[in-house]
Amino acid sequence: MLQRTIRKNLSVVSATVRVMYSGEIDRAYAAAERAVAALADLPIDRMTADELLEGRARHERLARSLSGADRRPLARLAELGTVDFGGGRLGLILADRLRITPVEAGRRLHEAADLAPRQLETGELLPPQLPQVAEAERRGDIGTGHVKVIRDFLRDLPAAVALEDRISAENRLADLSTRMRPDEVRRCAHRIAAYLNPDDHFTERDRARKRHFTMHPQGADKMRTGSFCLEPEVSAYLEAIFAKLASPGMCHPEDPEPTVDGVPDPDAVSRDTRSPGQRRHDALSAICRDAVASERLGSHRGLPVTVIATVTLQDLQDHAGVATTGGGSLIPMRDLIRMAGRNMPYLCVFDDHSARPLYFGRAKRLAGPDQRLALHALDRGCTHPGCPSSAYICETHHLREWADGGATDTDNLTLVCPTHHRMIGTDSPRWRTSRNRAGRTQWSPPQHVDPSGRPRTNGYHHPEQQVGGFNGAQPP
Ligand SMILES: [Zn+2]
Repeated sequence: MLQRTIRKNLSVVSATVRVMYSGEIDRAYAAAERAVAALADLPIDRMTADELLEGRARHERLARSLSGADRRPLARLAELGTVDFGGGRLGLILADRLRITPVEAGRRLHEAADLAPRQLETGELLPPQLPQVAEAERRGDIGTGHVKVIRDFLRDLPAAVALEDRISAENRLADLSTRMRPDEVRRCAHRIAAYLNPDDHFTERDRARKRHFTMHPQGADKMRTGSFCLEPEVSAYLEAIFAKLASPGMCHPEDPEPTVDGVPDPDAVSRDTRSPGQRRHDALSAICRDAVASERLGSHRGLPVTVIATVTLQDLQDHAGVATTGGGSLIPMRDLIRMAGRNMPYLCVFDDHSARPLYFGRAKRLAGPDQRLALHALDRGCTHPGCPSSAYICETHHLREWADGGATDTDNLTLVCPTHHRMIGTDSPRWRTSRNRAGRTQWSPPQHVDPSGRPRTNGYHHPEQQVGGFNGAQPP
């Protein structure tokens, strides 16, 4: 009884404090917004070039200070975690609320972790990881371009470099950044790296830390760029493979029967006008096709590792439009038909606007391959509001739990990424899932996240439904 009274009083206190701070936040931002409006109203038409340039410098300082003032609140948000928002990744929640990309949200959170004071459990504040950089940014002397150069430099230093050398390098670069452009500071950073690591000595751990293979989002032309940093071993494999498969005349997609083994005939070599970069691309394509066709890659989440593409029956018959892959990218129909001629991708064909569910009995706990294919077509990826996770990495969730008698048929199944799968439950601090009348999975937030409990759906994987028709054309 006493405990309940204390808890009730505490919640009243916390609600009052929240209202108090909301007022303070409102007043501070209202003042800043009035100041920004005054800047936008300056009579720029009557200003000289000198005045305009000087104004830009002051504007830049202001923008930098503003970005510096954002560090501590972001770090505090990371300390508080995502319980109040119903769980999940903070980067994604922030990206949704601010309407910025998840990559940008991640960058801001990582920078905040380096540039904001750190709070101990006792409430005591420790200086930031990069105190000089944080201070220079707070004054408006350096911007995010400088911050990136310095953080990249520190990240790429070998682990063997002593802490005091790292600190003095940070101080020097922060100081140089107050009077140089980021591109100039980067040249200085390279020079300092050479002083600190004169023999270019990197341990296996240093190299392993930097390895990555990153694909950027697909462009409007369906092409995809990316970046990579390969360990010497991977690079050695590729060199050996490219020496053969990327030589002139090999793996040429324009040949009726591209040569992938043996020596290409001299005619094929002389016809080959591809650049070395294009030949390496085509060689990579041949390797991937071979790996998928070999069936040595086994299965993943109940389906063979291969391209899973969903298309409408109409598009397939017309050889037009695009297919959506389980990875969330688009393939032009003629490319898909060519792929199907070589090794069969898993196709999930459905009527123009509906993914017709396939019914199966409650024979197995795991969703069968046909049901998973139907889910690729229906959900295309994680169904949690705003989640960009593709169908390939999603788990299958029973809308009505199997333990409660929920059947393993497509009507009762939906795709959910592992992070969001853990957030579902019937008890109160968890999200609940159900199917709405349109056949889409909807998520009802926990009471403390949204007292209205209004269910939400994920439009991320269905952009055509967000856009609707355009210039008279109907959604594909
Ligand atoms: Zn998700």
